[in-house]
Amino acid sequence: MMITSKEELEKGIKSVLISAEEIQEAVKNAAALIDREYQGKPLLLVSILKGAFVFLADLMKNITVPCEVAFMAAESYYEGTSSSGEVKITLDVKQDLSRYNVLIVEDIIDTGRTLKDVTEMLRKREPLSLRIITLLDKPERRVADLEPDWTLFTIPDKFVIGYGLDHGEYYRNLPYVGELAPQ
Ligand code: IMP
Ligand code: MG
Repeated sequence: MMITSKEELEKGIKSVLISAEEIQEAVKNAAALIDREYQGKPLLLVSILKGAFVFLADLMKNITVPCEVAFMAAESYYEGTSSSGEVKITLDVKQDLSRYNVLIVEDIIDTGRTLKDVTEMLRKREPLSLRIITLLDKPERRVADLEPDWTLFTIPDKFVIGYGLDHGEYYRNLPYVGELAPQ
């Protein structure tokens, strides 16, 4: 369904969960931490499209150590509640990962299945190090054995939108993270 008016869009937002100011503050702190951790090390930020692109852009603007960026796109298929499935990479990183400290930048970790499969695949390419930073974590929903190295916000089991996260491809442009209204 197409949403074409601001009013219609606003009906889909139940409440603000994390304000734009809170996000920007947390992003600055995360960038400072990355600056310290990766000082003097070749750093490659890897983001899985599309949800993480807003977080990635803000994070990258606040990072001051040299870094490169690469994007991946993946489609996963899972049967029932199995914790791993078949992951098909539809857009891959071009860099030779064995030359980099790889930091995966994620929007949200829910069941963790997609990221688990992607990290296992990337680990086979023997990066100098492989770590995960996520804007949001919904630990209650976890199925796969996967933990991020850094989490900006831990949230309850609610469907959230904004700051890159979508529902039916809308709401990615909100500057805050909100809870989706009952549909
Ligand atoms: P999972 O961790 O493999 O279950 O999938 C995580 C992906 O599902 C994220 O990268 C999002 O694209 C999407 N996702 C999970 N929870 C939410 C949510 O609350 N809002 C919007 N997208 C979500
Ligand atoms: Mg994602």
